[in-house]
Amino acid sequence: MNYLAYQSSDLLNGNGLRSTLFVSGCSHGCVGCYNVDSWNPKEGQLFTEEHENNIIADLNDPKINRQGLSLSGGDPLYKRNRRQILQLVKRVKSECANKDIWLWTGFTKEECLADSLMSEIISYVDVLVDGKFEQDKYDPNLKWKGSSNQNVIFMSKI
Ligand code: SF4
Repeated sequence: MNYLAYQSSDLLNGNGLRSTLFVSGCSHGCVGCYNVDSWNPKEGQLFTEEHENNIIADLNDPKINRQGLSLSGGDPLYKRNRRQILQLVKRVKSECANKDIWLWTGFTKEECLADSLMSEIISYVDVLVDGKFEQDKYDPNLKWKGSSNQNVIFMSKI
């Protein structure tokens, strides 16, 4: 998996102060996509175990109380990203006490649940923002999502 950017302290992508990873690769081809460069899975840099360790360390940093990890893109559930994203969300839940995970994907929740690997990934996710971006449903006043067809789904009681 490649990634485009990592922000260790971010206030824009989810509730509270967060660490946010933007991964490369997306197959949804939404008209009006805010970041067409992110579609190419070869964009950005290789995401290594060292990067993963750094994210875990940031979430466990006692000096900065981050609320959790946000995963965006591109699409974290792009087919080639799934194995590494599963490993990352598993580690966050086992090694970072009380940290939540938000994940943005162009797949709907129903599509995620129909696939064994995506379904396993979202079982570790606290907030899922699902669905493709639809330009005719764009509304700049929406919170955490770009178009009204998308859903902000609280999977757990965080
Ligand atoms: S799912 Fe997101 S990144 Fe992918 S094409 Fe749609 S808006 Fe762009």
